[in-house]
Amino acid sequence: MKFTVVGAGAMGYRYGVLLQDAGNQVEFVDTWKPNVEKVRQQGGVFVSRDHQNRQLVPVKLFYPEEYHGNPDVWIFFTKQMQLADFLKRTAHCFNDQQYALTCMNGMGHVEKLLKYFKPAKLLAGTALVATVLNGPGDVDFIGARGAGTMNLANYTEKPDEMTHKVVAELKKAQFNPNLTTNFMGTLMAKVVFNSVVNTLCTLFEITMGEFASYSGADELSRQLINEAYDVCERAGVQMLNTRQAELDSINYVSKVANPLHYPSMYQDMSHNRPTEVDYINGYLVKLGQKYNYAATTHAFLTHLVHLAEHTRQQNAVKTHNK
Ligand code: NAD
Repeated sequence: MKFTVVGAGAMGYRYGVLLQDAGNQVEFVDTWKPNVEKVRQQGGVFVSRDHQNRQLVPVKLFYPEEYHGNPDVWIFFTKQMQLADFLKRTAHCFNDQQYALTCMNGMGHVEKLLKYFKPAKLLAGTALVATVLNGPGDVDFIGARGAGTMNLANYTEKPDEMTHKVVAELKKAQFNPNLTTNFMGTLMAKVVFNSVVNTLCTLFEITMGEFASYSGADELSRQLINEAYDVCERAGVQMLNTRQAELDSINYVSKVANPLHYPSMYQDMSHNRPTEVDYINGYLVKLGQKYNYAATTHAFLTHLVHLAEHTRQQNAVKTHNK
């Protein structure tokens, strides 16, 4: 199958390189110049697994404007706030036959993708795996091969033949895909998870294990889960898990599966890049407003993350001017 990955960052490289390893024809499109130039200069991307076995993997990487490929499936792995620009710059290659697959965090991407792809061609989901971009052309896949999982669903909630073919390729590449027929429930499960763990760990610059070791962690999680579920229920989203199961999942991932992991939002904050908080906690706030429900804790946390971003920016300017 032919895949083109849009957004050659941490997750774009992970999906693209592993699908390429599994025998697919894969190309990449990216806009970050240092990344594109580095890959061209070194002849590929350096890939490590859990900080070890760093090796060069040849990849074909293009700027959107110079790309003219016609993949069967586009895979979108940009940050939420980058997507509109990527879509606009790559649109000359899109056509009605192609499928779009994405496992980006947060919400905001679906409506943007639907401006370019038919509902029947859109597959979206969640990736339960961590990947770190060390820098341009250098990526670290966290976790043993085949360790992560992913969920995905058709926007129409009606899997077709192509959906099953895509799932088969994802299986071959060991992404452990789980196909559901509950689109919003699948996406919102991760939004709720991230709205607790990513946001709190980022604010306090702690690992998931450090968060879970705090005696009040369950109480914090419960308050955020309850508000998020209150919003989702009003919006008619059929949640995959009960509130308790969501809390159990947060505890399992934080205590057992990934205690040493800093969530990806923290990685953005620590590199002074904007976070996706507006698309996670902020999304819950906006969805709540639509149904006259005030998700005040999520609103407060969204502000706190922006305050932390703002403070870091100011400190960076102060250091620069010294
Ligand atoms: P990323 O930041 O590594 O890459 C996204 C884009 O940003 C790429 O185009 C990349 O070239 C560019 N980029 C990277 N560093 C940059 C810099 N310093 N300056 C300018 N541009 C830069 O993003 P990601 O971690 O691959 O995330 C993509 C999506 O997947 C997001 O929605 C994220 O929340 C989600 N996600 C990430 C992980 C993870 O562990 N990284 C896990 C699950 C889901």
